[in-house]
Amino acid sequence: MNEMSNPDDCLFCRLVAGDIPSTIVLETPTTVAFRDISPAAPTHVLVIPRAHHRDVASMADSDQQLLADVMSTAVEVARQEGIEDEGYRFVANTGTYGGQTVFHAHVHVLGGRGLSWPPG
Ligand code: 5GP
Ligand code: ZN
Repeated sequence: MNEMSNPDDCLFCRLVAGDIPSTIVLETPTTVAFRDISPAAPTHVLVIPRAHHRDVASMADSDQQLLADVMSTAVEVARQEGIEDEGYRFVANTGTYGGQTVFHAHVHVLGGRGLSWPPG
């Protein structure tokens, strides 16, 4: 358990615990990947660490192996979803200006259509 780690207070901790249903697409000992409830693209999967960290910066500061695990799972999800050849995007919204709404670290895996750049 890490900072602000009461699972009762955190949506994604509750999801990891199985208290909130989700469509899981890939699980590893340290990470879980599941479909976003409000998909922004044909493939929209969230990859999270099982352990609570508020954002990717916290993971980078305290557990670089876990950060690597999350990114490796994201790559594997892209392969499994069949979006590798056409390309995809990883997004880690961080803080207020970054548009983060859930404060348990996560990486969005987006693909299946052309994605505009720069983002809004
Ligand atoms: P953020 O805005 O923090 O980068 O991303 C949070 C994401 O979590 C959003 O894309 C939102 O649709 C998704 N989300 C919020 N609540 C739930 C939920 O209960 N289940 C799932 N599967 N996704 C959720
Ligand atoms: Zn959490």
